[in-house]
Amino acid sequence: MSKRDYYEVLGVNKSAKKEEIKKAYRKLALKFHPDKNKGDKAAEEKFKEASEAYHVLSDEKRKANYDQFGHAAFQGGGQGGFGNFDFSSSFSDIFEDVFGDFGDFGFGGARSGRGRTINRGSDLRYDISIELHDAFAGTEKNISYTTYKKCKTCSGSGAKPGSKPTSCSYCNGQGKVRSSQGFFTIQQTCPECSGEGEKISNPCSSCTGIGKNQSSESVSVKIPKGVDDGTRIRLAGKGEAGTKGGSNGDLYLFISVEPHNIFKRSEENLYYELPISIADAALGTTVEVPSIDGGRTKIKIPSGTQSGKQLRLKGKGMPILRRNITGDLYIRIVTEVPTSLTKKQKELLVEFKTLEDTKSNPLIKNFFEKAKRFWRN
Ligand SMILES: [Zn+2]
Ligand SMILES: [Zn+2]
Repeated sequence: MSKRDYYEVLGVNKSAKKEEIKKAYRKLALKFHPDKNKGDKAAEEKFKEASEAYHVLSDEKRKANYDQFGHAAFQGGGQGGFGNFDFSSSFSDIFEDVFGDFGDFGFGGARSGRGRTINRGSDLRYDISIELHDAFAGTEKNISYTTYKKCKTCSGSGAKPGSKPTSCSYCNGQGKVRSSQGFFTIQQTCPECSGEGEKISNPCSSCTGIGKNQSSESVSVKIPKGVDDGTRIRLAGKGEAGTKGGSNGDLYLFISVEPHNIFKRSEENLYYELPISIADAALGTTVEVPSIDGGRTKIKIPSGTQSGKQLRLKGKGMPILRRNITGDLYIRIVTEVPTSLTKKQKELLVEFKTLEDTKSNPLIKNFFEKAKRFWRN
């Protein structure tokens, strides 16, 4: 029987990219999968043919060999020949690869069969919101949550005290079964014991045989200084209990830091705007300003300070988790123009205006000199 060209089988060009080859195969595999075409020999053949073509064309080395030598590359028991190609072991890899991102297709669980890892307890997520000052200084929080803990009555075995789980006879305790589909073998999770390898004939009455019970838990968590919005803290073993000797899952704390009404944070640095009056900006002054540690720092505003000027207070920023650094505090000065004036203030300002001198406002003078030149040309 002459073998069809692999490109023809998948219906792709020789220049087809990996993704295209995968897509073509996925389509054919869905159409001709033996689970969907029970007893249909022709479909099985098509499925086999497509899988073989995909096996070759999805691998760069095999593809190059095939492009050069055609089917001869894999004949005569040579390297990688199909004569001794073990489909049972690599077929599930093909499936992982092609369908892994598609969720469960119900193909007899070709994607399962992960063995005893199913006994590990689930991880849990707990969202916690803290204040910026807590992120600065570190804190301790008590959190309560609902989880599954190992059943005390049966010590997690799921079997009634005095009885024992028995090895599953369907899969010989393996948790997996292999079903032959002509040319290949597909490994499936044992349908009798759901992959656990054993069955409980006398289930524990307090946990109905699952080996764990729902319970509320509360733990005190140390939140180190320097955490940021989005930091995750893992509390090993604080998740749900495992079953049948499986380890506990973990508890993940997802931290969010509440916005502060003064300080804005960007990584290790803090920022805020400090409003000052035009008189202070012109005459100069000293102001007490807040820092995140709760303290006050005296800063000097020199006479003639312009709006937008930035001051830096070194070391008054945030610590960074697991790094021995502390950021700075940046204070941006903004001059606040008075919005409602008393009669007296108005009079003084009018008088001030009559005394205005171009020397005291060089920027204004400079700008209008340029403007005049611009209008002239
Ligand atoms: Zn129990
Ligand atoms: Zn079984």
